[in-house]
Amino acid sequence: MDLELSVREKELAAKGRDFCDQVLVPLELIADEHGEVPMERRAAIRQAVRDWGLAGINHSKENGGLGLTMVEQTVIEEQLGRVTNGLWSCVWRPPVSLKFGTAAQKRDYLQPSCHGERRGCFAITEPNAGSDPRQVETTAVRKGDRWLLNGEKWFVTSYNASDFIIVHAHVDNDPNKPTLFLVDKPAKGMTHLRSPKFMHNFAFDHAELRFENVEVPADRMLGDVGQGLELTKDWFVEARLQIASHALGAAIRAAEIANDYATNRVQFGKPIRDFQAIEFMLADMAVEIFAAKSMLYRVAWEIDRKIDRKLIHGRASALKLFCSEMAGRVIDKALQILGGRGYMRESPLERLYRDIRVDRIWEGTSEIQRLVVAGQIRKRGFDVYSGWE
Ligand SMILES: Cc1cc2nc3c(=O)[nH]c(=O)nc-3n(C[C@H](O)[C@H](O)[C@H](O)COP(=O)(O)OP(=O)(O)OC[C@H]3O[C@@H](n4cnc5c(N)ncnc54)[C@H](O)[C@@H]3O)c2cc1C
Repeated sequence: MDLELSVREKELAAKGRDFCDQVLVPLELIADEHGEVPMERRAAIRQAVRDWGLAGINHSKENGGLGLTMVEQTVIEEQLGRVTNGLWSCVWRPPVSLKFGTAAQKRDYLQPSCHGERRGCFAITEPNAGSDPRQVETTAVRKGDRWLLNGEKWFVTSYNASDFIIVHAHVDNDPNKPTLFLVDKPAKGMTHLRSPKFMHNFAFDHAELRFENVEVPADRMLGDVGQGLELTKDWFVEARLQIASHALGAAIRAAEIANDYATNRVQFGKPIRDFQAIEFMLADMAVEIFAAKSMLYRVAWEIDRKIDRKLIHGRASALKLFCSEMAGRVIDKALQILGGRGYMRESPLERLYRDIRVDRIWEGTSEIQRLVVAGQIRKRGFDVYSGWE
């Protein structure tokens, strides 16, 4: 067993760290005060991503991406996770489902998305369909050489940074026919209802959209009728790994800030780390980070080894569950160690505290991850999590 990172993996981690510190961290307070990244700064950030060689991080070279392994992507994403306000999303990851597109769809959507010339957002969630996508009410009905889409989508992340939307709809209102459609912006009949405010101030918005007889040419259907969830499964695995990586990076940054503060802050005549109450918090934080990091790189490595997809799916859920909850606990302790200073808006800990909460909700809530893990145990036994093939 070899658990050492290669020279290339270490170089990529260093690049991710430098990009984070030099390009993204200076934008934190701007994004927090403005509510998102100001429009006039976006082109320069996109160019920086290209200049640093981080464009198309999650796709193969033949599809216009960098052709990185999952471990290579993970070492970069972990470093990007250090930044607040979801600024990691400035380093775009074109939706995985696009790799299942036709040659024309790859040419028109995936390749330009890898290069940062286009950007897509993903719309599944609706007022009555969250954890249970079978409740989706958006319909797609075929009319000659077009599809007509009708429905409403919520929480569409990065809508205002995107020029197309991947819409998950039920063909003929049949929940057994979930299907994906590529909708270009602007689309006649599509209305941007609003982009509400959330607990975090994220790099881009989370929009609510209405579709009224929106016409989509037949060749903009992604995959086949009924394949919507299947194509999205790959996305979920990747997104869950990405969330775990970001949660880990956020927890490490918080722990480092708390460790420094505990060393330098003197009360009652000694550094506060000399109080066991504080040092035990630091110890618990270190152990949690150690466990999460070990888990994360094991799953990333297993993806590169192409082990059984179902096992990967089950383990990615466990990973997302553990890392998102771990980061909540670690950041909470870090903030406590900084006392009142940790609670100030100018402290990265205050922002990390707000940012990290959504990781227990999006891409499947903690409860849904527990359902997946429990289902794996039922079907395959505890070995899925206790074994090491
Ligand atoms: C900031 C943000 C960005 C988002 N971005 C996107 C996006 O880009 N695209 C998109 O399509 N969606 C997006 N989402 C939506 C997100 O994926 C959903 O919020 C999430 O899947 C949960 O759905 P829900 O909020 O409707 O909660 P519900 O499904 O209504 O759940 C409510 C509560 O019930 C629990 N629950 C539900 N079912 C069960 C069960 N079977 N067993 C136990 N507990 C259960 C849940 O865990 C939760 O605690 C985003 C959400 C947020 C907050």
